[in-house]
Amino acid sequence: MSSQNTAHFERPEIRLPSGRILLNGELVQPRGAERTIDAIDPATGATIMSFAACSAEDVDRAVNAAHACFESRAWQAMRPLDRGRLLENLALLVERHREELAALESLDSGKLLAVTNAIDLQFTIDGLRYFAGWASKINGEYVTHNPLVPEDAVYRAYTQRRPIGVVGGITPWNFPIGQAIQKIAPAIAFGCTVVLKPSEESSLTTLRLGELIVEAGFPAGAVNIVTGYGAEAGAALVDHPRVRKIAFTGSTATGQRILAASAATMKRVTLELGGKSPTIILADADLDRAIPGAAAAIFSNSGQICTAGSRLLVEDAVYDRVMDGVAGIAEALRLGSPFDPATQIGPLISPRQRDRVSQIVAAGVQEGAEVVAGGRVEETAGWFYRPTLLANVDPDMVVMREEIFGPVVCATRITDRSQIVPMANDTPFGLAASVWTRNLDHAHLLAERIDAGTVWLNTHNVLDLAMPFGGGKLSGLGREFGSEAVHAFTEPKAVCMRLEGNYEFG
Ligand code: NAD
Repeated sequence: MSSQNTAHFERPEIRLPSGRILLNGELVQPRGAERTIDAIDPATGATIMSFAACSAEDVDRAVNAAHACFESRAWQAMRPLDRGRLLENLALLVERHREELAALESLDSGKLLAVTNAIDLQFTIDGLRYFAGWASKINGEYVTHNPLVPEDAVYRAYTQRRPIGVVGGITPWNFPIGQAIQKIAPAIAFGCTVVLKPSEESSLTTLRLGELIVEAGFPAGAVNIVTGYGAEAGAALVDHPRVRKIAFTGSTATGQRILAASAATMKRVTLELGGKSPTIILADADLDRAIPGAAAAIFSNSGQICTAGSRLLVEDAVYDRVMDGVAGIAEALRLGSPFDPATQIGPLISPRQRDRVSQIVAAGVQEGAEVVAGGRVEETAGWFYRPTLLANVDPDMVVMREEIFGPVVCATRITDRSQIVPMANDTPFGLAASVWTRNLDHAHLLAERIDAGTVWLNTHNVLDLAMPFGGGKLSGLGREFGSEAVHAFTEPKAVCMRLEGNYEFG
């Protein structure tokens, strides 16, 4: 365990949530509360606390509360500015509890404390404020009417953007509090009400968020939080006829299941799913930036990022330097406790996830991939896997086609530029990509040709709440963030009226 960090450090005081779910404005024990899920610290394997595995009945109560709130006169009449104020109140509370929430997130998910504080909590606070501003800026359009036949009456037409109704939010474990806000904030801003189900692997910050939502003064039922397993609580949300929209972030397999199940009630769905994103380094790239950029693209958060740069495509002239550089970084990265400031890589979320990473790398090696760095489990408490660089990979290998969701990157040498676009697009996914070059023409031309929801130029994994986020192909459906969020959480209504007597006035 040469690079496992064993230095002493102080773990901050961590405030655990009560474990109660948020139902109709109150923190309560669900009816099926005797069935619980253990929250496990992935860095040590220790049990932190347990929380309820909600049943379909609990979900039904939460949906009914959200529905009653949505239909209430108070909610319908609430000024958009005041909906925005609710989000601002919550932003202030999250800001006040920032250190505590960051520490809880690190404990529950294994993410580095420096990252949860600087990135996850910043995103959460920014997200609340960003969407608070949107609440009062949702406009329809005046439409120029075209009568089928000329007549004396005139028609005037306009559109409104109406909130969809009750939104079911379902989130994954890699970005828990940020994802919760990514669903709650736009839903409330655009006038919907919400039932949120966090991942059973990392529910604690979302439970704590529920406590802050009560403190922030949200009307009863506007936001409800139910914990539990996907196949039970998640599926109950998807099947519920009163849920009008599912906003889902998670794996492609679950997204496909949700899309199929949503057909029965014709729910609106947005699906933010997996990826196999290419990091493309051209021969003229600034390698002092591109090499650490490519390493960070895959190794940050132990590769548990949907947009991770998991395929490294490098032009021949710089291939050896890039491989040496990325391998050197991979070998030197320090694994350890998320609370130790010296740690650079934390654990994977669960033994299941670590074993999956291990198995898929082994399958790649079996098929002929060469391990340039890492390629093994870190034998220690917790679920660690060494940052891994694979070469000699073939486009048909399982390591190249499947999302691994771990710190594993597959490198390919580009010997002919005409291979770049076909190779970059040779994946069932279409979430993100990055291009590293000093040539502006090539950067923008590649940005156009790569089939991905986001293309970064000379950077990777930069999220911006003002930019639409999502992917094509098996990476999802629809977009969140930016002005696209309006379409995700509202539906257009066309209003047309006939005005008589236009010529009576001269
Ligand atoms: P997952 O699909 O296993 O679980 C996600 C959520 O879905 C959890 O809350 C789970 O309980 C729930 N769920 C599971 N089965 C369900 C069902 N049948 N019906 C309803 N809900 C169900 O995903 P995960 O392993 O938690 O997260 C990792 C995945 O998320 C990766 O594939 C990653 O790429 C993806 N992800 C995508 C984005 C994005 O924005 N595109 C962001 C983060 C993570």
